[in-house]
Amino acid sequence: MEKTHLTGLTRAELVEFAERQGEPGWRGKQLFKQIQARRLFSFDEMTDLPKKFRQALREIAVISTLKVESRFVSTDGTRRYLMKTQDGFPVETVFIPSENRDTICFSSQSGCPLKCDFCLTAKLGLLRSLSAGEIVEQILIVLNDVYGVGNETPHGTNLVGMGAGEPFLNFENLVKAIEIICDKEGLSIVPNRITISTAGIVPKIYEFAELKIRPHLAISLSAPTDELRNRLMPINRRWNIETLMQAASFFHEKMRPREKLTFEYVLLKGVNDSENQALELARLLRKYRLKRVKVNLIPHNTAEELDYTPSDETKIERFKAVLESHGIPAYIRRPRGRDIYAACGQLAAKASVSAVSKKLETI
Ligand code: SAH
Repeated sequence: MEKTHLTGLTRAELVEFAERQGEPGWRGKQLFKQIQARRLFSFDEMTDLPKKFRQALREIAVISTLKVESRFVSTDGTRRYLMKTQDGFPVETVFIPSENRDTICFSSQSGCPLKCDFCLTAKLGLLRSLSAGEIVEQILIVLNDVYGVGNETPHGTNLVGMGAGEPFLNFENLVKAIEIICDKEGLSIVPNRITISTAGIVPKIYEFAELKIRPHLAISLSAPTDELRNRLMPINRRWNIETLMQAASFFHEKMRPREKLTFEYVLLKGVNDSENQALELARLLRKYRLKRVKVNLIPHNTAEELDYTPSDETKIERFKAVLESHGIPAYIRRPRGRDIYAACGQLAAKASVSAVSKKLETI
C-alpha cells in the first residue's frame, strides 16, 4: 500500500487521519504543527507524539517525497533547487533574496503543456502535475535550507507561483496547497504575500476570483494583439485577448482594497517591444477600465534553444515610459539568477550550469 503523504493534507484532513488510526483528533493537529510550523521531516523528532503512534506513522505515512538532487547558487545570491519526485520527475524551486523580503518561486507542474514560444520550460512538455504535498514541500525544503529547520523567517516570505508549469491547469492541487500554506497553525503565510501567475486559463480565473483564501493574480500577456499573441502563446487560440480581458475585469471587480492585478509582459527584441505596441497595450488596459493594475516588464532571458533576444535598454525604458504616460504603473523586472538558469522562463531542469556559478553539495 502506498504511504500517505502527510505534507499534502490540510489540518482537517490530518485530524481525520489521526482518528482513523485510533488516535484522538487533536493528535492530527499536533502532527500538522510539527510538519507545517516546525517543518520537521522525521517522525523521530516529534517527541511530543507517543512512541507507538510514531512507529505506526513510519509504516503508513511519509512527510517528505521530494529529493533535492542539486542546489545552485547564483553570484547574486539566488538559489535554484533541482529536486526529483519519487517517480523521478524534475521539480524546480527558486529562492530570491532581497533586502526587505525574500521570495520563493515554486513550480506547479513538472514541465509544462503550454507551448509559449519564448519559454524554455515549454521545451520539456508536460511531464506531470504536482500533488498538493509536492507543492507545499518545495516551500518547506527551501525555508529549512535557507533559515535552518523550523527557524522563523527574518522578514516574512513572499511566494510566487511562477515556476515551471501552468498553475491553473493544476487548479485543485494548487488551491489545496494554498489552504495548507496559509493555515495559521502552519506556515501561516497570508494570501496577500502570494501571487499566482497564469498564461490565461480563463475559466479558472473566474474560479480563482471567488476563492475564500485567495492570493494575488498575475496574467502573462506579452502581446497586445491576438495575431501576435497567437504566435507567442498558443493558449491564446483557445482563449483570446478579449475573453481573457473579460475574466481580468471580473477579477478586478472582486479585488480587495489596495490590491493590484499584475500583467506580465516578456520583452522580445523586435517582436513586441515597439512604442506602438506599448501604446496598444495601454489602450487595451484602458478599454477594459482596469485602473488598479500594474505591468511587470520582463526582459527576455535567452537560451540557446530559444529564438528570441532581450530588447535593447532604450526600448525597454521607452516601453515603460509610454505605459506610465497613460497612467499605468510599469516596472522592469531585472533577471535574478540568470547564471544558474533560475530566471523567468529558464526552468528546464538543467543539471549543470556555467563555471562562474557554484553548484553546492546536495542537502
Ligand atoms: N504558466 C504561468 C506560470 C509561469 S510564470 C504563466 O505563464 O504565467 C513565468 C513567467 O515568466 C511568465 O510571465 C512567462 O511569460 C515568463 N517567461 C517565460 N519565459 C521567459 C523568458 N525566457 N524570459 C523571461 N520571461 C519568461
